[in-house]
Amino acid sequence: CGIIAYTGHRPAVPVVIEGLRRLEYRGYDSAGVSFIQNNELLNVVRAAGKLNALEQKLSNSPNILATVGMGHTRWATHGIPVERNAHPHKSFDGSLSIIHNGIIENFQELKNDLLAKGYKFYSDTDTEVLVNLISEERKNTTNLMQAFANALNKAHGAYAVALMSKEEPDSILAARMHAPLILGLGVGENFVASDVPAFLNYTRDVVFLDDGELVKITANSWELRSITDLGLIEKKVQRINWD
Ligand code: GLU
Repeated sequence: CGIIAYTGHRPAVPVVIEGLRRLEYRGYDSAGVSFIQNNELLNVVRAAGKLNALEQKLSNSPNILATVGMGHTRWATHGIPVERNAHPHKSFDGSLSIIHNGIIENFQELKNDLLAKGYKFYSDTDTEVLVNLISEERKNTTNLMQAFANALNKAHGAYAVALMSKEEPDSILAARMHAPLILGLGVGENFVASDVPAFLNYTRDVVFLDDGELVKITANSWELRSITDLGLIEKKVQRINWD
C-alpha cells in the first residue's frame, strides 16, 4: 500500500500514477486518485485491482490538467477490496477527500458519533470516518489545518494520511503516525509519499517526517508542524544520493 501527493506545475495525475507504480512493491488490492479540476471540483477516480484498471478509467476523462493531486494504493483492513472501499474517500459534504494507509483503531466509536450527527457513509472503511471527523471539526475551528489536527488528535491508531480540500485547492495537508511518510522538495513542486522512489525522478531533497508530525505543501512552500499543538518544527533537508 502507498500514498503520493503532488502540488506543482505539472499535470498532477500522471505524476501520481507514476509514483503509485513505484510503490507497487508494497502490495495493494485497489487504487485511486483525487484531483481538482476547474478550480473547485474535487474529483475522485478509483478502481479495484491493478493500476491498469485505474488508468483505464482515467482514460475516459481526458485532459486532466490539474496541478494538485494525490493517489493511493490500498491494502484492505476494514471492508472488502471493492471500488466503494477504495481510496480516496470524500467527506459527506463533498468538500474534502482523503487517502490513508494504516488503521484507525477507535473508528467505530467515532463513526457512531458522526452517524448521530447525521453523517452518511458510503464505504466500510475506517478512513471514511476520519475524513468526516475532519469535516465536523472544521465547523468549530478557524482553519482547515486546525480541524485536521483536532481530528487526528481524536483518532487513535496508525496512519500516513493526505487531505485535499475545495477550501484550499492549492495545498495538501499530510500527517504521519506509525506509518512512513516523506516530504520531497522540488523547484516549484513538492511531494509527499510513503517512500522516496515515488518521487525520485523529480527531486532528491527530502525531509523524513517523524510520528506526530503534520505538513502542509503548496507548489512553492512547505511547513512542518506538531499534530498535538501545531507548533512549527524545524528540520534539515536531506539529500538522497542513491538510485
Ligand atoms: N484501513 C484502511 C482501509 O482499509 C487503509 C488500508 C491501507 O493501509 O491501505 O481502507
